[in-house]
Amino acid sequence: MSRTLFVTTALPYANGSFHIGHIMEYIQADIWVRSMRMAGHTVHFVGADDTHGAPIMLKAESEGITPQALVARYGAERPQYLNGFHIKFDHWHSTDSPENVALSQDIYRKLRAADLIETRSIEQFYDPVKGMFLADRYIKGECPKCHAKDQYGDSCEVCGAVYAPTELIEPYSALTKAKPILKSSEHFFFKLSDPRCVEFLQSWTTGENLQGNKRLQSEVLAKTREWLGHGKEGDEVNLGDWDISRDAPYFGIEIPDAPGKYFYVWLDAPVGYLASLKSYCDKIGLDFDALIDPNSTTEQVHFIGKDIVYFHALFWPATLKFSGRKTPDQLNVHGFITVSGEKMSKSRGTGISPLRYLELGMNAEWLRYYIAAKLNSKVEDIDFNAEDFIARVNSDLVGKYINIASRAANFISKYFDGELKFSGDHAALSAGWTQAAERVRADIEAREFGRAIRDIMAQADLINQAFDAAQPWMVAKGLQDTDTEKRALLQDICSNALGGFKALSVMLAPILPELAHRVAIDLFGLDREFVWSDAGQIPTRINGFKHLMQRVEPNMLEALFEPPAAPIAAAVKANEPALIPGGEPLAETISIDDFVKVDLRVARIVNCEHVEGSTKLLRLTLDVGEGRHRNVFSGIKAAYQPEQLIGRMTVMVANLAPRKMKFGVSEGMVLAASHADEKVDGGIYLLDPSTGAQPGMRIH
Ligand SMILES: [Zn+2]
Repeated sequence: MSRTLFVTTALPYANGSFHIGHIMEYIQADIWVRSMRMAGHTVHFVGADDTHGAPIMLKAESEGITPQALVARYGAERPQYLNGFHIKFDHWHSTDSPENVALSQDIYRKLRAADLIETRSIEQFYDPVKGMFLADRYIKGECPKCHAKDQYGDSCEVCGAVYAPTELIEPYSALTKAKPILKSSEHFFFKLSDPRCVEFLQSWTTGENLQGNKRLQSEVLAKTREWLGHGKEGDEVNLGDWDISRDAPYFGIEIPDAPGKYFYVWLDAPVGYLASLKSYCDKIGLDFDALIDPNSTTEQVHFIGKDIVYFHALFWPATLKFSGRKTPDQLNVHGFITVSGEKMSKSRGTGISPLRYLELGMNAEWLRYYIAAKLNSKVEDIDFNAEDFIARVNSDLVGKYINIASRAANFISKYFDGELKFSGDHAALSAGWTQAAERVRADIEAREFGRAIRDIMAQADLINQAFDAAQPWMVAKGLQDTDTEKRALLQDICSNALGGFKALSVMLAPILPELAHRVAIDLFGLDREFVWSDAGQIPTRINGFKHLMQRVEPNMLEALFEPPAAPIAAAVKANEPALIPGGEPLAETISIDDFVKVDLRVARIVNCEHVEGSTKLLRLTLDVGEGRHRNVFSGIKAAYQPEQLIGRMTVMVANLAPRKMKFGVSEGMVLAASHADEKVDGGIYLLDPSTGAQPGMRIH
């Protein structure tokens, strides 16, 4: 029976570029969605940017731009990644959208009407300089246990202690270094501990979906039981109410009837799934309300990482349920991706940049195949390992699967003008391929991608063994047009190999969509993409064989990981991160011609002042010997007081294009040193020339 599904991936927080973890999740969901479509189901696959909250607000402010401009900058990068890895969302939207405002406020109003919202006064650290309440991550101080300095407000990275920010010794604001004060404010809470919520969640988390499958994986269910208990009498429930409000200034959605109060970003982020679906429905003329009606048969499926289970298995179903909406049918939770067994680290050069992967000309389908081969339905981390990657792509994907077609197709083209002929029982052949494809389809639906690929490769082995045993190259030796029997044998051997290849291509189509497209259309002459039922259709001919896929060159992987300078690459290989200067690998080598394009000049700081409304910037007035002064903004406020800098000499980039910022135009940039990791050394050190240098002198 044909099903309708509404599928999402977690909304990426729009304060940075996509990393390999995002791409892994999108590939997992995209494979699943493509397979469901190949089975004839209707899928609405949508995503959106998660735009609200303090980190985006503060990052935009530090750059002197609006949050919308910051989000738009990362949004502009998105198509390169999604198109590059053949990830095909139907629609992409934003939590900063009218649909999301309307839906979030409506959900809130319904929860309030159901008596599930209450207000409480809470005391919280407040930055008197910045004029805002501080989330734990913006408070630092001395660990109350081990007395390590500069630890975050919720836990100590040195001894691992967990505490409340008020327990820190000599706490300070990470934004302004000011001493925070305790201040009380009215906050809005969603009463998650209400017996109605607890009872609903106990039933929802343990229940089955429309397909009769568990909504949650067993590991996820076990996790929710830490909060919900087992639903037995006397079981302890550890469910606190959820603080859903934040005070201005905040980039977010205003809470109705509560001036100066905004929804905490995690309230409106998942609502963004619905907002994106609504925007998509409006665009193509679908009835949005029918899809999310509590009685709708549309299946709502979310792909997420293991770090956000709390929000998706508790808050999200509860807010939907008690605002009278359909609740999710399935949470598909995955682990993280590690690289060579280590957590990714940009500064150690162990991360994989998805864009670099594409820029090196590496085939996106290699990565899709590799990730699929590693994934299963459990909440397990997967590891990217260069040797394993090369082996799986070259030995399995190309060596076993692609090889079948490249060996058999030339005989068929050369001797039979592309015509295929099978001597065996057609019904049995078709049934065999259909059954094999059905196993693979079921594994993909169950997200057992690795098992599906093992099955496909085992079938490829059988096809290759049969082909080798039949020795078609011997049959073809000196073949004459009159050798009817030998010709029939050769045609049968190669037809069986190519028929098998076609069935395997159908099975791999969700994972390798571009390759399957070429196999379907160019090789087998279909006028459309493969669907699952094509596996059992016996092909009658092929068009001329064109090369389908290259092998990975090992030097590509070296380049993928290679930090640009040789000594650093050696350090990374030897796992000696301390050798990376300043915490970041050297930039790419440039020529002297590149260098002389940058015009560095000695500058005298004739004036320096604070910039109202900015926590990072100082305004510098510089004399570069031009007979006029330049206005330059510099993010060095954390390190210097204006009066320390007035009269000092420094070095500036004098030919940088003027840049319009929120606070005015900046006409250049002063040079300062800092470590890449502010936890190693959070200092900023302005450059100055030796005594005697005069304003305007060029640095050569
Ligand atoms: Zn500590």
